[in-house]
Amino acid sequence: MLYRRLLSLAAFAIALTGLGAAEAKPAKKKPTTVASTTHVTKGSHKGAQSIGAPNAGHLEGAMLLRGSHTLKQKEGSHSWGLPELVHALQRASIKVAKKHRNSVMLVGDLSGRTGGFLERHGSHQTGRDADVGLYVMNSKGKPVNVRHFVAFDATGKGRELPWAMFDEARNWDLVEALLTDDKASVRYLFISNPLRAKLLAQAAKKHATREMIARAAAAMMSPPEADVHDDHIHVRIACPESMRGVCIEEAMQRVGSGDGGAVKAARGADVDGAEEKTSEGKPMAEPPPSDASNEAK
Ligand SMILES: [Zn+2]
Repeated sequence: MLYRRLLSLAAFAIALTGLGAAEAKPAKKKPTTVASTTHVTKGSHKGAQSIGAPNAGHLEGAMLLRGSHTLKQKEGSHSWGLPELVHALQRASIKVAKKHRNSVMLVGDLSGRTGGFLERHGSHQTGRDADVGLYVMNSKGKPVNVRHFVAFDATGKGRELPWAMFDEARNWDLVEALLTDDKASVRYLFISNPLRAKLLAQAAKKHATREMIARAAAAMMSPPEADVHDDHIHVRIACPESMRGVCIEEAMQRVGSGDGGAVKAARGADVDGAEEKTSEGKPMAEPPPSDASNEAK
């Protein structure tokens, strides 16, 4: 037990030393000095662990998200995550499909099997992040299922697909399903500002409770560069209670000019989105500004 703790602390320290995200590799298992008498190397048998911060950490004992009749994965996606995240996605896909027959949620990357740096992402390192494609309608307002993420402009029209429209009803039901999942505490939903506004309007139209709307307004936010999250919602769950001490809630502040040691466990900007100045449960009129965001989609 002690060894396991020490190992975790070591990993935590590694995360804190500020290996840039670009080189943050999953921590290698410790060699034999500690392994022989303990189970420290068998994360999958001891439960999953999200170690470090979303943009500087790794993952142990991850669960693989599998497709179902309500959930498909984008080709080539990395589908490992904390069980809390995997189950929340599965449940949300079922909830949406119950309200809208034959709906299939399209999921992109979660994390690699042992977490760490994932191509094209700033975060997605610790099994708490997932990209979920937006539900799409055709030009007649009929829900359609797609196999690729579809980007929408501020009016809700497909940027590259003229026939595609942002499906307000299903996307709001998705947001609501995620936020009301009491087994997984969804902390952030990164989405572009215009789509966020559409979703909040849809919530009002559907007479969602004031609390629900406030919760959604607080959770949904956009990175500073417009259009970054215009074809998917980036879902991040909070650190599960059981991982307290090893799981770092907020992304590490990025310090420019290679000053790796100065990485702080800050509410700093994560390339996936603006994370500072947010506090759960507080509705925000405007998403906060952020000083860094360069996550590709
Ligand atoms: Zn993402």
